[in-house]
Amino acid sequence: MLLDRFGRRIEYLRLSVTDRCDLRCSYCMPEGYKGYEEPEHWLNFGEIERLIEVFACLGLKRVRFTGGEPLLRRNLVDLVQRLAALPGIEDLSLSTNGTQLAKYASRLRRAGIHRLNVSLDSLDRDRVRAICGRDVLPQVLEGLEAAREEGFQLIKINMVAMAGTLEEEIDAMVAYCIERRFVLRLIETMPMGDTRRSSGFLDLRPVRERLRVRFGLVDGVVPGGGPARYLVSPDGRFQIGFIMPISQHFCETCNRVRLAVDGTLHLCLGQDDRVDFRDLLRTDCPDAAIEEALLAGLHRKPARHEFRERPHQVVRLMASTGG
Ligand code: SAM
Ligand code: SF4
Repeated sequence: MLLDRFGRRIEYLRLSVTDRCDLRCSYCMPEGYKGYEEPEHWLNFGEIERLIEVFACLGLKRVRFTGGEPLLRRNLVDLVQRLAALPGIEDLSLSTNGTQLAKYASRLRRAGIHRLNVSLDSLDRDRVRAICGRDVLPQVLEGLEAAREEGFQLIKINMVAMAGTLEEEIDAMVAYCIERRFVLRLIETMPMGDTRRSSGFLDLRPVRERLRVRFGLVDGVVPGGGPARYLVSPDGRFQIGFIMPISQHFCETCNRVRLAVDGTLHLCLGQDDRVDFRDLLRTDCPDAAIEEALLAGLHRKPARHEFRERPHQVVRLMASTGG
């Protein structure tokens, strides 16, 4: 069992398979961003598989594919299949912006992805274009329908709520999710990197209170092991999660670390503590050396982020960390 020095069990890896993306969400990537990792720095599938195999022997149970946009990584489905076959890995999931989902939903499901998180910040086509820089709403909705038909165990919609997000937009998304049995998650914007297009922070506490009263929601639990706190309707038909890193700290239950495409293991989303695995994996090292580096790294996992106290501290982008 992997316990850090604060007694937190680390069993969840966010695996960023690319730092590239076809969108430019205002809170995530600067317009015209070109600072991508060189392809020769990307961990190849063999390197990723080996690292995760060692990690799984130590107690890793869940892996979420993310990015950047993970569906842009060529042959991702092959990697999914390889990780699905590793002993100890019980749960594979994927976060996507949905633009390629119609094309890949069926192959992902067959390869072993059980749960999907799809990012969608509004159902208003112009707002989506303004937030993410491309007119992709119809494409994303088509992807979501394809995923629904495939029968994934769970589909969650990640909606980043920012200054300017209207009550009506949230209500429209609530209605959309209830109708399709999607779990909605509202997320507060985190200060990651300098996107030069500050999206403005929206405190979700009043939003949560309004929805709780309107739908008579009560505390609930939804699978996923993440930082979201859920409210559910008494008949169980509607489930909504709130990820509120700014207004409500969630670090004491953090169970995860993040592997970037260049082999850097980030120990905390909001801190710079890291371990470089690329050089190690590219030497002729035994598994014991990887194990030792993992254990030493996890021992250094910070207690908490400081987004509120030091909002300019994290200069890397969410897309290169593996959000
Ligand atoms: N491209 C995929 C997507 O959009 O789902 C996966 C990567 S993206 C970095 C993962 C999640 O991080 C998305 O749900 C996105 O909305 C969220 N995200 C990105 N930047 C954020 C920020 N500054 N604050 C809060 N959430 C953010
Ligand atoms: Fe791309 Fe996802 Fe970041 Fe949007 S949130 S720019 S889709 S990586």
